[in-house]
Amino acid sequence: MRLKEEIVKLKKERNAIILAHYYVADEVQEIADYVGDSYYLAKIAKESTADVIVFCGVKFMGESAKIVNPNKIVLLPEKNADCPMAHMATVENVKKIKNEQDDLAVVCYINSSVELKSVSDVCVTSSNAIKIVKSLPNKNILFIPDENLGRYCQSKIPEKNFIFNKGYCHVHTAIHAFDLMKTKAKYKSALVLAHPECTGDILELADFIGSTSQIIEFSQKSTCNEFIIATELGILYELKSKSPNKIFHTISEQQSCPDMKSITLNSVLSSLKNNNYQVNVDDVIAIDALKPLEKMLDLAK
Ligand code: SF4
Repeated sequence: MRLKEEIVKLKKERNAIILAHYYVADEVQEIADYVGDSYYLAKIAKESTADVIVFCGVKFMGESAKIVNPNKIVLLPEKNADCPMAHMATVENVKKIKNEQDDLAVVCYINSSVELKSVSDVCVTSSNAIKIVKSLPNKNILFIPDENLGRYCQSKIPEKNFIFNKGYCHVHTAIHAFDLMKTKAKYKSALVLAHPECTGDILELADFIGSTSQIIEFSQKSTCNEFIIATELGILYELKSKSPNKIFHTISEQQSCPDMKSITLNSVLSSLKNNNYQVNVDDVIAIDALKPLEKMLDLAK
């Protein structure tokens, strides 16, 4: 039996759903029941009636799905698919700043470990960060772990005092302004669409800044036919499916996340067959980490 057919058969037998992030390989997006950004997938995971959730993404995504579905089996097809940025803040430092600052909210990008979420007040994704931070009553915002997304939010919310953490996504920070300028010079009529995990100099050159879903939506609605994409290149699959007559250019070969790309059809099949690899979260930490996730799902409505 062919790989895809076997996956579909096993999925039915186990009452499983497959969730995939836009950054995973094309063939994995193709077999997924739902493809989307972190916010959309977190919502789907929460609403799902499936017994098994196969999360084609990285560890923090599987953990978030498990936290909102403690009684379900959540599988991460590749054990080592993890996001380095998710570990670029420490619980100790968050606690220290909490003790030092009055009127503080700890805002945690969803790309973070469950331990970081457990000491945070609210989670955000790149699609809802500005809306959520604006709605908080606190003057001081400790934004963890991504400094680039944090600084982008600060530029839109000058009335608040931001404290940053030196976290970053190595894929987005590897997109350099010099390469973008060269690409712009080559494709003069193309609009630049950038993700806020990119550095400030890339965002300054962008015509549109948004999350993966917002970039896809913008390109669909735009009257422009040609775009330069400053985010992970897995997004091209959805961009091209939604707008088959438009042209999309990337900037460099560095725009690929090795952790996202480690998920394969074979690993998805093996996951469904052998329960590879079950995501488990410590009960006490899960209770604390659920609060900021639920607050995000509530405030982002
Ligand atoms: S693209 Fe960046 S933020 Fe996303 S999983 Fe990979 S390393 Fe983490």
